[in-house]
Amino acid sequence: MSDQRRPAGRQPDLGDMDVGDFRDAAHGVADRVADYLDGLERLPVVPRVRPGDVRAQLPAQAPARGEPLERILDDYARLIEPNVTHWQHPGFMAYFSSTASGPAILGEWLAAGLNSNVMFWSNAPASTELEQTVIDWLRRMYGLPAEFDGMLCDTASVSSLLALVAARHAVPGLDSRRRGLAGRDDVGPLVLYVSAEAHMSIDKAAIVIGVGTDGVRRVPVDEDFRMRPDALRRAIAEDRAAGRQPFCVVGTLGTTSSTSIDPAGALADICQAEGLWLHLDAAYGGNAAIVPEYRGLFAGWERAQSIVVNPHKWMFTPFDASLLLFRDAEAFRAAFSIVPDYISTPSGDVRNYNEYGIQLGRRFRALKLWMQIRWFGVEGLASRIHEHCRMAQELTAWVDADSEWERMAPVPLSTVCFRWIGRGELSDDVVEAVNRGILEAVNATGRYYLSPTRLAGRYTLRVTIGNPRQTMTHVRGVWEALREAAADVVHGGS
Ligand SMILES: *Cc1c(COP(=O)(O)O)cnc(C)c1O
Repeated sequence: MSDQRRPAGRQPDLGDMDVGDFRDAAHGVADRVADYLDGLERLPVVPRVRPGDVRAQLPAQAPARGEPLERILDDYARLIEPNVTHWQHPGFMAYFSSTASGPAILGEWLAAGLNSNVMFWSNAPASTELEQTVIDWLRRMYGLPAEFDGMLCDTASVSSLLALVAARHAVPGLDSRRRGLAGRDDVGPLVLYVSAEAHMSIDKAAIVIGVGTDGVRRVPVDEDFRMRPDALRRAIAEDRAAGRQPFCVVGTLGTTSSTSIDPAGALADICQAEGLWLHLDAAYGGNAAIVPEYRGLFAGWERAQSIVVNPHKWMFTPFDASLLLFRDAEAFRAAFSIVPDYISTPSGDVRNYNEYGIQLGRRFRALKLWMQIRWFGVEGLASRIHEHCRMAQELTAWVDADSEWERMAPVPLSTVCFRWIGRGELSDDVVEAVNRGILEAVNATGRYYLSPTRLAGRYTLRVTIGNPRQTMTHVRGVWEALREAAADVVHGGS
């Protein structure tokens, strides 16, 4: 083949990249990613770019003729890689860290090579059966009973949307799949219940399924930001009395702001008594159930109709991987299955995943999960998650021991919420301004990246730990950076 090699920089007129060229380039790309991971901590977590900076350097039009790969990769190295926010950086402690581990990145690469589209068994036999196996592995890892089956989705937003469609389909006599909801005078407005701290993905799902944001009842929380069962019971009774139709409760096990955990058992009792679907959003928190010691936090979740946990949030799986678990697979198939003539899905005892959700074509996500679960082992994953929680407890102890700082919420998992209060004589407005300044200063160091939230109306700083490359060096470092920033902001007079 070497004598037939095209001159460098020329693409073939037809056909794909030469496999030999691909092989060489793939080795180079592997080196590039390894170098990136190796050098991460020399980069600022958040790039110093302004809106439009990157776009201004990109051509307005796609090239008419193919370009040599070297030039494309050079541009990647110059324009793209340094100008993303580095989610892989151990100083990334904002939102929830979402880390792609080595073995799982390799699985993602292999899946890209296969390009297996996991619509139904016969066009993806091994991919379908590996997905079934991985889902059952994860179910056991979380300590959930064998009744739970499930599927892999892209995000928790979509997993919850699918669950709410199934919940709506399960409402007796509604027949929404066939009749829709618009223009119906035979049913009262549907209502679903979330805590005041629930994720906005549930509101979005309500928008999509025709319940609307008016149909989302926000139930008050207790002083630890957990949904109050008594308030839930009262809200359901009020809605029924007003002719509305409660159909679903969505509990959050690990809220996005403070990681508070709604009482799953109490919610399950109410749902059982009221005939409502219980969906649990455990996008981040559910991963902690891999650690047997933390399973008690989720007691009662095994009674839900559906649960979402995101391995891409705290199990070191590259984005995206969201696991939707359901107790009654038939409820999802009944809500979604359509089998047209142009898709001759195999019958018999095989899983045709497209019949359980919206997508026909589906990514082969099970491969990266399978590779990383095997490489780390269940105990290896558990010990890393346990260590994250332990490090969060150390930070919690430092915050609690320093009278100039105030903790804003309990720390059940690996996220600590707090704020600077100084000597305690300042107004909330001044305290908020100082904390905004602290956040800005810490983020400006480039070594750490934090995101704020608001708890009980108060501006709150948040440190979340969840990257397997994070160590106490990073936790000590961010605490030091916070205290230095506080001193600078206060004495700098802002
Ligand atoms: C992050 C988060 C979500 C949304 O996750 P996506 O996978 O990005 O859609 C939903 N619920 C909770 C509690 C979250 O923390």
